[in-house]
Amino acid sequence: MANKEDHFKKVISHAKEYGYIFGSSEIYDGLSAVYDYAQNGVELKKNIREYWWRSMVYMHQNIVGIDAAILMHPTTWKASGHVDAFNDPLIDNKDSKKRYRADVLVEDYAEKLNQKAQKEITKAKKRFGDAFDEAQFVTTNPRVVKYLSQKEAALKRLAKSLENEDLADVKALIEELEIACPESGSRNWTDVKQFNLMFGTKLGASAESATDLYLRPETAQGIFVNFLNVQKTGRMKIPFGIAQTGKAFRNEIVARQFIFRMREFEQMEMQFFVRPGEEMKWYEYWKETRLKWHLSLGMGEENYRFHDHEKLAHYANAAADIEFNFPFGFKELEGIHSRTDFDLKAHEEYSGKKLQFFDPEMNESYVPYVVETSIGLDRMFLAIFSNSLKEETLEDGSSRVVLKIPSILAPVKAAVLPLVKKDGLPDIAKEIVDTLRWDFNVIYDEKDAVGRRYRRQDAAGTPFCITVDHQTLEDQTVTLRDRDSMEQVRIPIAEISTHLKDTISYQKWLS
Ligand code: ATP
Repeated sequence: MANKEDHFKKVISHAKEYGYIFGSSEIYDGLSAVYDYAQNGVELKKNIREYWWRSMVYMHQNIVGIDAAILMHPTTWKASGHVDAFNDPLIDNKDSKKRYRADVLVEDYAEKLNQKAQKEITKAKKRFGDAFDEAQFVTTNPRVVKYLSQKEAALKRLAKSLENEDLADVKALIEELEIACPESGSRNWTDVKQFNLMFGTKLGASAESATDLYLRPETAQGIFVNFLNVQKTGRMKIPFGIAQTGKAFRNEIVARQFIFRMREFEQMEMQFFVRPGEEMKWYEYWKETRLKWHLSLGMGEENYRFHDHEKLAHYANAAADIEFNFPFGFKELEGIHSRTDFDLKAHEEYSGKKLQFFDPEMNESYVPYVVETSIGLDRMFLAIFSNSLKEETLEDGSSRVVLKIPSILAPVKAAVLPLVKKDGLPDIAKEIVDTLRWDFNVIYDEKDAVGRRYRRQDAAGTPFCITVDHQTLEDQTVTLRDRDSMEQVRIPIAEISTHLKDTISYQKWLS
């Protein structure tokens, strides 16, 4: 596709046109950064959730799932640190009246320097050909050295001032770097202020007796407060994990980029409880295991990379993101965090209840350490959808739009098409649908010429089309068309189900 921005626009319009994602309450002009999943979107989302759940819960003897409530006792969020520390540093531009995350302004600035350096590297690569020594070039070319060291310096200073909660210095940095408002181009900034991201709400009927609550900003705390319940009733032994998927809410200030940053979104999280001192081993294990899960979908190794955090959250002693090559560049898709014993200890302190495990091998009780894997379901959706949408030029010079969603995740697995609407072909096609629907989400489609129906299914992401024609009447065979290769093979009706099961099985994809 032409360029990235263009591609991203196509992703958004395609998602609407093919029934994947609608803006929330669109008839009232929508609600910013809130989205609805449509008839195909809900299937893709459910399939991603299932793919994650199976790999985390069913494929690990020592991981079980829960589904905790969105509303939790308000003290939860004091203990977790969210009341005091779940803030974004914000800055307003006085001319455009636009509000920005101060850290993101600096990070974007650093990324621009990075891109400048990369441009120089690409140019040199072309110029020197095979003789090019990138490592040497990066450390000796004066321009590249300058760009990269400026970038490092900016990020280091940002990390330090955020860590020291020195917001005046964050503003000073923005001024020194001469960062201008992307909207107005002006450098007329307000002071930097902290803004809490949690949504508040009230429990109870009367104004006097109502309790202030928060909508959970992460699903993890529902797991921590249930740690001992699950451990005891499930007779779990350390190391073990608790997995959960569910909605989380954040009053994001800069909510752009479609479903990448939403105010209401869904997380898929797993908290893995380990012996103190063994957390780094498990942290490395989960980094590797999660990357493998992503790669199992076949969306290209080059589209993923790790980003190790320099600035750690208040609860972590190590953290890395798995970044994905979104249409707007590499961005966080999943976080793997070594959360120490911060959360369980804090809940012990605030609740006065012990949250410890008696380790029979060590003959002692301790508060376990936690390694967390946390992925946004909606972000995963966007990764898959944007990566799958392709415009292809065919051999005959025509073009097609195709949504190459991994077949295990595709909303509809097959469309059954009678070649014509007569001669008994529709009846056979409907019978095939009736048989397949026990195992797969399949649809029947008889409208328009068959070529147009193929194109429609390509664009909707359906991996297989099964066509019933006049030969079917004679020998009980159909054509099976593959979305990606567009190849057609003739197979007996009796073999369709086995064929689909062979290609679309969790075993095949997850192993
Ligand atoms: P970011 O830096 O992008 O704001 P984060 O580091 O705050 O993300 P975490 O708190 O680690 O994110 O949340 C875990 C995962 O939840 C993220 O990797 C992301 O996939 C997802 N996520 C977080 N915030 C949002 C959001 N506003 N919309 C959609 N997904 C989100």
